[in-house]
Amino acid sequence: MLGRPALSCIYPAEADWSSSRRRTVNLVNAVTEDTYASFPIADGNDVELAVSKAKECFQSIRSGTVRLDRRALLDRLMHQIEANSDEFAAAISDEMGAPIDFSRKNQVQSAIGHLRAIRAAAEISTIDYNSTDTNHFVTYEAIGVAALITPWNWPLNQIALKAGAAIAAGCTMVWKPSELAIPSAMLFARCLTQAGAPDGFFNVVLGDGTIGSMLASHPDLDIISFTGSTDTGKKISADAGFCLTPVLMELGGKSANILFDSCDLEVSVRQGVAHCFRNSGQSCNAASRMLVHSSIYDRAVQLVVAEANGYRCDVSSKPGPHLGPLVSAKQFKNVQSFILSGMAEGATLSAGGLGRFGEFSKGFFARPTVFSDVTASMSLFQEEVFGPVLSMTPFETEEEAIRLANDTSYGLAAFVQTADLEQSKRISSRLDCGMVQVNGASRLPGTPFGGVKNSGYGREAGLFGIRAFQYAKSFSASGG
Ligand code: NDP
Repeated sequence: MLGRPALSCIYPAEADWSSSRRRTVNLVNAVTEDTYASFPIADGNDVELAVSKAKECFQSIRSGTVRLDRRALLDRLMHQIEANSDEFAAAISDEMGAPIDFSRKNQVQSAIGHLRAIRAAAEISTIDYNSTDTNHFVTYEAIGVAALITPWNWPLNQIALKAGAAIAAGCTMVWKPSELAIPSAMLFARCLTQAGAPDGFFNVVLGDGTIGSMLASHPDLDIISFTGSTDTGKKISADAGFCLTPVLMELGGKSANILFDSCDLEVSVRQGVAHCFRNSGQSCNAASRMLVHSSIYDRAVQLVVAEANGYRCDVSSKPGPHLGPLVSAKQFKNVQSFILSGMAEGATLSAGGLGRFGEFSKGFFARPTVFSDVTASMSLFQEEVFGPVLSMTPFETEEEAIRLANDTSYGLAAFVQTADLEQSKRISSRLDCGMVQVNGASRLPGTPFGGVKNSGYGREAGLFGIRAFQYAKSFSASGG
C-alpha cells in the first residue's frame, strides 16, 4: 500500500493480500466508472484474530501492563490527521467522487472538529463524587472491546466520532469500515499507528456485510457502535441481542425543514437547498423534506427551482454551488427509482428528473431534483432517498407543520426557519428528533449527535460520545 511499511492492525494481513484464496473487492471511481483499486476481504479467522488481539490489549491496559495515555494519544492522532489532511481529502474524493473542495473543507475538517470536541470533553474527570466524602463515588469505566461498523458517506468523520470517543473512554477496538471506503480507512489506521496506539489497541477488518455480521454476533465484544442504514441496524441489533451486547445505532433520516412565513425566504431557500444537496444528498441528516407555510409556498417553489437549476455537477473546486456524483451505480439506480416513484405517485417534478446530469457521458451524476406538492403518503416523503432530491410540501398552521414533520418513521434532525425564536423553542420539544437547528445555526462542538425512532438510539460527539463507551460503577466504603 503506497510503498509504506505494512500495518500490523490490518486484517487480512498485508503479507497475505496476494493469496489466491482471498475474496477481493474492486473499487470503482464514481466519475470515470473505472476500477481504480482492489482489496482483499477478511475471513472468519481474521475476525477471530482481530477480536482476540483487542481483548488481550484491553486486559493489558486494565492491569497496567500496557500504559495508555488517552489524552496524549488523541492529541497525536489529531496531529497525524491534520498532517495528512490532503491525502485524506484525495482518498475520500476517489472513494465517493466528492468534489475535492468538499472533501477538504467538510469531510476532513468535520472529523478534526469532532476530535477536538472529544479531546476537550476528555478533560472531564472519569470520577463523580456524590459528596465531599471520597469513600462514596461513581466511576466511569471503559466498557471493554468495541466493534465499530461504519458506512462510506462521511468515512473519516464517522470513524473520528467513534474511535475518538472509544480512545477517550479507554476501549480497544475492532473496526469494519465500508468496503467502499477502504483507502481512507487504511490512512486512518496508519495515523493511529503513527500516533503510538499500543499493539492490539485498534484493529481493522476489511470486508463487507458478512464480516460486519460476524462482528455483530461475536460473544467477546462489549459494545457495537454502528452507523448506517436502518435495515442494517435492525439486523445488527438482532445479531447483538443474542449475546446481549449493547448497541449504539446512528441510522438513516428524512429530516424536515420547516419554513414559517416570518422567515427570510431567500436565505432559507439557499441554505435549505444546500443542506439537502450537500454531499450529493448522501447525508443522514439531509434536510430532504421542505415544509413551507402556504402563504409563501408558491414563491418558495420558484426560488427553490431557480436555486436547484443553478447547481453544477462538478468535482473541481471552482466557486459556485456544485456537487459530485453518487457513490456507486447501485446508489444511482436507487435514486432513479425514487424519482420515478415521485412521478408515478403524482408529485410535481419542478426541477431535474431522471437520467444523468446533462454534460456527462459517464459517472454516477444524478440531476439535482425538486418535487413540489409532495404529500405525506408518498414514498418521497417517507423514505430516505440518499441523493440530491428535495421534496416540498405546503402547510397551513404550526400544528400541521409539527404533524407533518413527525409523520415519518425517522427522527434524526429538524430544521426551522422563523423570525420568531420563541416559536422555534416552543415547537422544538414536540419534534420527534435528536437535533433541532434554527435559521441555519450549526450545532455547537461536542453537542450530541443522534436520533430517535428509526433513526436509532444512543448519542455520539463530545462527552455524550465518550459516555457511550463507558459504564457507571458506584463505589461505597466505610471504615478505614
Ligand atoms: P449500510 O447499512 O448498507 O452499511 C453500513 C455498514 O454496515 C457498512 O460497513 C456495511 O458493510 C455494513 N453492513 C452491511 N450489512 C451488514 C450486516 N448484516 N451486519 C453488519 N454490518 C453490515 O449503509 P450504507 O453504507 O449504504 O450507508 C448509508 C446509510 O447510512 C444511510 O441510510 C444513512 O442515513 C446512514 N447514515 C447514518 C448516519 C447517522 O449518524 N445517523 C450518518 C451517516 C450515514 P459494506 O457496505 O462494506 O457491505
